[in-house]
Amino acid sequence: MIRVTDLKKIYRMGLVEVAALKGVSFNIEKGEFVGIMGPSGSGKSTLLHQLGLLDTPSSGRIFIDDIEVTRLDDEARTRFRLMHLGYVFQDYALVSELNVKENVAIPAITQGRILSECYVAATEMLEKVGLGNRLDHLVYELSGGEQQRVSIARALVNKPAIVFADEPCANLDTENSRTILELFRSVNRDLGQTIVMVSHELWHQEYFDRIIFIQDGLLEKERI
Ligand code: ATP
Ligand code: MG
Repeated sequence: MIRVTDLKKIYRMGLVEVAALKGVSFNIEKGEFVGIMGPSGSGKSTLLHQLGLLDTPSSGRIFIDDIEVTRLDDEARTRFRLMHLGYVFQDYALVSELNVKENVAIPAITQGRILSECYVAATEMLEKVGLGNRLDHLVYELSGGEQQRVSIARALVNKPAIVFADEPCANLDTENSRTILELFRSVNRDLGQTIVMVSHELWHQEYFDRIIFIQDGLLEKERI
C-alpha cells in the first residue's frame, strides 16, 4: 500500500544543511500496524511528514496505492491527503478558536459531509478516546493529554485508509495509552485501516505487527 524508495530530505537554512533522511526504502502493506522507532532527532517526524504528504522530500519516491504521490501537484496532493489520510501531529496542531467537537469535525466537514453528521461522527470518536464529557470545551481548557486525544479523534473521524500518528501517546499515562493503542488496534482489525505510528516506548511494541527502526536518517533494521 505504501512504497518508499531512496527517500531523502535535506532541510536548508541559509548555508546550513541538515540531512534528516539519507535514503530510506521500505514497503508497508495494507492493514499493517507498523511502529517507527528510533532516537530523538533520528528523522521519525520528518519521515512521517513526507509519508503524510505534509512536506515534499528532496528526492526519492513515495507510492500510495500505486499512485506516485511525490509527483502530484500541491492541489492534488492536498486532495489526496484529505480523502485518504489521517494524521496525529506530534504537537497536536489543534485550532484554538474552535471547541473540541468542532476540531474533531474538521476533516469530515472538509470532505463535504452533512454538518449534523460531522458532529455525530466527531462525538462518537471523542467518546472512544474518553472525552465524551469535553465536547464543548475550548482547547486551552484541556490538559496536554486531553488535547492529544482530541488530535487522535480528529485523525480517525473520517475512517481514513491510512493513519499516521506521531508519538500519539507521548503525553498520556499508561491507562490512556492503552486505550489509544487498543483503539488503533480495533480500527486496524475491524476496518482494515493501516496504522503507522511513531513511538519511543518499548512496551508499545506488543501492539505493532512490525517495527521500522531509524537512526541518523537511515533505517537501522527491520524486524518482525
Ligand atoms: P524526536 O524523537 O525528538 O521527535 P525525530 O526523530 O522526530 O525526533 P525529526 O524531527 O525528524 O526527528 O528531526 C530530524 C532532524 O532534522 C533533526 O536534526 C532536526 O533538528 C532536523 N529538522 C527537523 N525539522 C526541521 C526543520 N523544519 N528545519 C530544519 N531542520 C529540521
Ligand atoms: Mg519527532
